[in-house]
Amino acid sequence: MWRFLVTAVEPFIAPVDELPADEAIRRHVDEAARAIGLESDVGEVLDSSYREISVQVPLRRDDGSLLVARGYRVQHNGARGPYKGGLRFHPDVDLTEVRALASLMTWKAALLDLPFGGAKGALRVDPGELSDRELQALTRRFAISISHVMGVYRDIPAPDVGTNAQVMAWFMDAFSSRHGYSPASVTGKPVDLGGAPGREAATGRGLVYMLEAAARRWGWDLTDRRMVVQGFGNVGSWVARELDALGARVIAVSDVSGAMLNDNGLDIPRLVQTVNAGGRVTDADISYVKLSHDELLTLECDVLVPAALGDCITSANARNIQASVVLEGANHPVTPQADAELAERGITVIPDILANGGGVTGSYFEWTQNIQQFTWTENRFNAELRERLDRVFDEVASYVEQRECTYRQAAYAIALERVVRAIQLRGYV
Ligand code: GLU
Repeated sequence: MWRFLVTAVEPFIAPVDELPADEAIRRHVDEAARAIGLESDVGEVLDSSYREISVQVPLRRDDGSLLVARGYRVQHNGARGPYKGGLRFHPDVDLTEVRALASLMTWKAALLDLPFGGAKGALRVDPGELSDRELQALTRRFAISISHVMGVYRDIPAPDVGTNAQVMAWFMDAFSSRHGYSPASVTGKPVDLGGAPGREAATGRGLVYMLEAAARRWGWDLTDRRMVVQGFGNVGSWVARELDALGARVIAVSDVSGAMLNDNGLDIPRLVQTVNAGGRVTDADISYVKLSHDELLTLECDVLVPAALGDCITSANARNIQASVVLEGANHPVTPQADAELAERGITVIPDILANGGGVTGSYFEWTQNIQQFTWTENRFNAELRERLDRVFDEVASYVEQRECTYRQAAYAIALERVVRAIQLRGYV
């Protein structure tokens, strides 16, 4: 069985004074609208989704019992191109969260200047409790239930929390059985089915490319810098590997089994080996001290990479964060209140829509290769990824320096301007 894209860590319950995720993102967009002096009322189009589908996905389980799961696909805005965004399988996911994640994809794709709109899908189920047969049957049923709004030039899914290349393969097969063979209808597929070599590592690798671009700009040497990575699924494990390869010191990591610290740097290759063999980080035979999930987040370090679920840095723990930089590997890991508090304390946050944009950029490369029926080498993939991410980072950093704003404010302002222009050019309103 393939490993899931992001391993969940303990659920974080946001304090009650925090906004629901969709309103939190709307707040960032409203702020950007003021920053760019948006006078038109087109912004109202972006307050809600274009289309929201909620479907029933029944499954006869191996033990004969019936499971009726709920599936969602939310298409937020398609002004700049076909809808694009991952599929998340998680027991706590709900429509509000999918809505928020779909709108994040609109801003992410626009900021990266990709020809895509934003979408997200989810299945409210715990994939870890299902057999391979059950997971395959659910994925196929879900794919068929939403296939009328999906397609190469309509809406293209990809892996997210709780899904992986195998799930994408099942999705593609179910979709193709109705609509004809269409590898470009899904990204993040296995390489043997038209997946792009490099796509699986692209989100984690892209985070490190972003950090390297930042380091060049800030005159930082990353060698021996102290790094903390929360989450050791696809994103977290690739970030840790690439940081380690650069000579940075990854002092702490975590997954569902717990958090671990070694001030001299953890043995990342051994950890990756353990996890790839189906183990948990705390099973690795290496020297470390066990920590709680909260202790990991508040360690003193140069860079903290939250790479698990959303809402883990909130008003409850923001004042205890001791990192110089927070590099958002997960989507929406920092609530707006925590974001303001971190900014006030001089902690730089590289926001999700910039930091983890390597994933959807890699998906774009896969999609274009599938359409052209031409495969790049992994070296070419990585070189194009780095070039694109460097360019976008520099664009955002220049905006930050000119306007003296946060990276998040700059990223949203640039993205919003592009989406509004596309809506106006199309004459949509
Ligand atoms: N799920 C990833 C994200 O949140 C990738 C989406 C995609 O490649 O379409 O950015």
